Amino acid sequence: MQQLLITCRAGLESDIAAEIQGKAAAAGVPGFVRAQANQGFIVFEGYQPDSAEHLVQRLPFSELIFARQWMVVLSHVQLEEKADRVSPILEALGSGPAFHGCWLTFPDTNDGKSLSRLTRKLERPLFKALSPLEKSPGKAGWVAQVFFLSGDDFWVGLTPVKNASPWELGYPRLRQPSTAPSRSTLKLEEAWLQLIPEHLRAIYIKPFQKAVDLGAAPGGWTWQLVHRGMQVVAVDNGPMDKGLMDSGQVTHLREDAFTYKPPRQVDWLVCDIVEKPARVAELMERWLTKGWCRFAVFNLKLPMKKRWQEVDQILTRLRDELDAAGIQYQLAARQLYHDREEITVFVGPKPV
Ligand code: SAM
Repeated sequence: MQQLLITCRAGLESDIAAEIQGKAAAAGVPGFVRAQANQGFIVFEGYQPDSAEHLVQRLPFSELIFARQWMVVLSHVQLEEKADRVSPILEALGSGPAFHGCWLTFPDTNDGKSLSRLTRKLERPLFKALSPLEKSPGKAGWVAQVFFLSGDDFWVGLTPVKNASPWELGYPRLRQPSTAPSRSTLKLEEAWLQLIPEHLRAIYIKPFQKAVDLGAAPGGWTWQLVHRGMQVVAVDNGPMDKGLMDSGQVTHLREDAFTYKPPRQVDWLVCDIVEKPARVAELMERWLTKGWCRFAVFNLKLPMKKRWQEVDQILTRLRDELDAAGIQYQLAARQLYHDREEITVFVGPKPV
């Protein structure tokens, strides 16, 4: 198959387009992108008949910053009559390799979200019709996906089970904790889920760890750290939530995050300051190269234009500095569902 459909946050189509074109070319699978602004997805088209399979074999999904989910395209169906949606889906999937399960998805746009009723209604008849085609989970490397733009316009394809987001729509559904002081609390929770491999999470995030939260007020990120039993130094001139301070696990310092220096190494550094991304990255570089923290999660605000190019430059520089300091690290970055015009980055020691 030649086409790869990739979903993204609406408005960031040109960024995922630039990113996938560069990374696909570097993986030896050149191609071009078809995209429309604010549609929440793009289609990468390789120059060879099997470009899409090659690309998902060669490019780890986790290396894509602006992608939410992807699928190798089998067919783009545009129905004239709404009556039968199941047959063209069966026909497309019958021609492809072994799969198990089927995701019904839609773009993260207002139009897309209004399709969730339709997909729920379709689930039962479609899954029943598909089951004779499915292989056992152990034998199938793919999950089928039908991506709806409307009731009569949808893309049918396959997502590689081991090289894709584990969540159908590309992000975990999280509930706002009632005692957390801000919505942005979900950014840190999502960052941990998206950026740290599942088998390492409980090793990296533990009770009694020490953490520093730079730009902490009112305390949404601090809430996550406290909730996991950590002791937190919250650095911010603004006021912290009273309930959090009453936990006895938070020390609030009204200091400048750019000059604060911890007295000894902490386990976690988190930083959600609205500042020039290059300046935040430099601050993170200082903490990591001086060994002031073991793990870091931070946000980088995106510029108005050429967002991918700027992010790429900043992260390349950060990697170069960590390499030059002889640090063995892992770095993961993603534009999260709970992020606004920003991306979130995790850096930690390289797993052994
Ligand atoms: N993560 C917080 C939460 O979940 O509640 C929200 C952080 S808010 C987006 C950014 C914070 O950074 C503001 O409270 C602001 O006062 C703080 N800030 C900005 N510049 C700072 C600096 N130089 N030093 C310390 N805090 C700073």
